[in-house]
Amino acid sequence: MSFSGEVKEEIARHSAGARHCQLAELAAIVQLGCHIGKDSNGKTALLFNSDNEALQRKYFTLLKKTFNIGTLSELDDDKAWDLLQALKFVDANGILHSFSEPISPLLLKQSCCKRAYLRGAYLSIGSMSDPKGSYHLELVCDNIDQANQICEIMADFDLEGRIIERKKHFVVYMKESGSIVDFLNVIDANVALMEMENDRILKEVRNSVNRRVNCEAANITKTVNASAKQIAEIELLRDRYGLFNLPANLREMAEVRLEHPDATLAELGEFLSPPVGKSGVNHRLRRLSEIAQGL
Ligand SMILES: [Zn+2]
Repeated sequence: MSFSGEVKEEIARHSAGARHCQLAELAAIVQLGCHIGKDSNGKTALLFNSDNEALQRKYFTLLKKTFNIGTLSELDDDKAWDLLQALKFVDANGILHSFSEPISPLLLKQSCCKRAYLRGAYLSIGSMSDPKGSYHLELVCDNIDQANQICEIMADFDLEGRIIERKKHFVVYMKESGSIVDFLNVIDANVALMEMENDRILKEVRNSVNRRVNCEAANITKTVNASAKQIAEIELLRDRYGLFNLPANLREMAEVRLEHPDATLAELGEFLSPPVGKSGVNHRLRRLSEIAQGL
């Protein structure tokens, strides 16, 4: 199962104790996860937008808990009306509002209910990428009012959701790992949160080890390449020119380099008598190289 699917499974199993939270979560699922249409019998019904099983399970669980009803799809009965009234989709005048309108603030007065709403929203229209790869979480809304409301609720938890328009939808998204972890905390996806944090730590450690290994490897390669070139030039000098024809300090340098092909410049300096610093070694090797290239 995808990481996103695991998050949904986890929050579908989560059960809010208080009725106010249950109603807020149910409102999110009805508003964002359902639409009114005709069922297979041609009757007006509340239909799911997706076939996500975790979402459907959560919906039926909440129906059972809040209204003690097993299923509800057809809308022309009293139970359906009671439900829509409790979720404030039906106003005091008995008028049914469109699901595309924002949820009534009466359902979102308490912080626990805002969390429940976001949980229902993620279950209905959310998804996220596997944090082993990149970081991305999004909620795909049908219209800008829904997207704005979700951002406002997120802001109450210091979470910054951004909105982008995509193919006639308004997508609330987050790309920063810290915000995504905080969002998982808000919707009570604690197992997913731990998994993501572990991956995040592993990834950071791995990156820092890789950086160090790469850096050391690059330095070694550089030293080895430079040494190989210097040795080739010194051998050319030896064979075509004769090391004994070089000034004493350069001859000593050439011999030390041939004897210690793996040594760094600093180490080579130690082998000279008297010892010479890195820049002195560098200077002598450059002189040797110039003479060799003159041949
Ligand atoms: Zn509540």
